[in-house]
Amino acid sequence: MSKFWSPFVKNLVPYVPGEQPKMTKLVKLNTNENPYGPSPKALAAMQAELNDNLRLYPDPNSDLLKQAVATYYGIDASKVFLGNGSDEVLAHIFHGLFQHELPLLFPDISYSFYPVYCGLYGIQSAPVPLDEQFQIRVEDYAKPNGGIIFPNPNAPTGCVLALDAVEQILKASPDSVVVVDEAYIDFGGETAISLVDRYPNLLVTQTLSKSRSLAGLRVGLAVGHPDLIEALERVKNSFNSYPLDRLAIVGAAAAFEDREYFEKTCRQVIDSRNQLVAQLEDKGFEVLPSAANFIFARHPRHDAAGLAAKLREQGVIVRHFKQERIAQFLRISIGTPEQNQALIDGLGDL
Ligand SMILES: *Cc1c(COP(=O)(O)O)cnc(C)c1O
Repeated sequence: MSKFWSPFVKNLVPYVPGEQPKMTKLVKLNTNENPYGPSPKALAAMQAELNDNLRLYPDPNSDLLKQAVATYYGIDASKVFLGNGSDEVLAHIFHGLFQHELPLLFPDISYSFYPVYCGLYGIQSAPVPLDEQFQIRVEDYAKPNGGIIFPNPNAPTGCVLALDAVEQILKASPDSVVVVDEAYIDFGGETAISLVDRYPNLLVTQTLSKSRSLAGLRVGLAVGHPDLIEALERVKNSFNSYPLDRLAIVGAAAAFEDREYFEKTCRQVIDSRNQLVAQLEDKGFEVLPSAANFIFARHPRHDAAGLAAKLREQGVIVRHFKQERIAQFLRISIGTPEQNQALIDGLGDL
């Protein structure tokens, strides 16, 4: 702590990202990155953009990318907001839409960045416990609130909520903003973007970090009513006019245009997930039903922290959370078939 800090800084509790090891030999199944590379068309678009134009600022509105997203979803570009990763989009949402008297609701087991943003922006929150099966119970959100946010599929459980359940949550809180964080939606859920026209209080966020394999590029988006988008644009333009650089704009747009590659790689991840679940169940693991590119699993006779340490010795890293309710679970990202096999081999005979 330093006397030079603004007072609020000493109370911040920052987010702790999963390890990005410098050792490259490791089988990295800890941060839900895509095991397949980005679309070759996205890479080619970025290579073509590596030219003298980099001396110029990018388009502050990233219109090319907004249009690519709008075309992909068949919506108007005025409903699209973009940011430097969906984490930045979420930060602007918390800042611009969630600072109200009543508490923000989100699941007790959820994306651990939400409480961090609450701390950063001074937002009161009231965690809503998942049920015994680690599922979101929609009735629990039908109470006075200053906003609602949940990932769908949820993280780190991987469990998905059907679209009609999402709609029930929206209907019960017509006077609050409801944010559906769809970081993993392409691996098995149904996007709520189709509901945006009917619910002016709905905001859907997505990222190119997972299903489009561009975690290193930092691009995220939100889709919602233009009034909500305008609030986000105001916050963004009071913070950083150029959150997306020239490479990100063209690379992300090309990734959205390359549907074929996207669908093929999502399918590969889903197939590997199904296979890995079967292999883990064979070893006695209990695996929550996953619609994401990771699974959440526990073993009735083996301590999760111990298993994570053992795997690490074998060069396989997975994520273990110290949070009480889930301390006996491991979150395992879906890798290539070879990486998944390394995980199974690393677990050995249980
Ligand atoms: C990965 C993830 C994000 C952040 O994605 P970025 O676009 O890489 O910032 C947001 N929400 C959830 C639930 C995630 O798992």
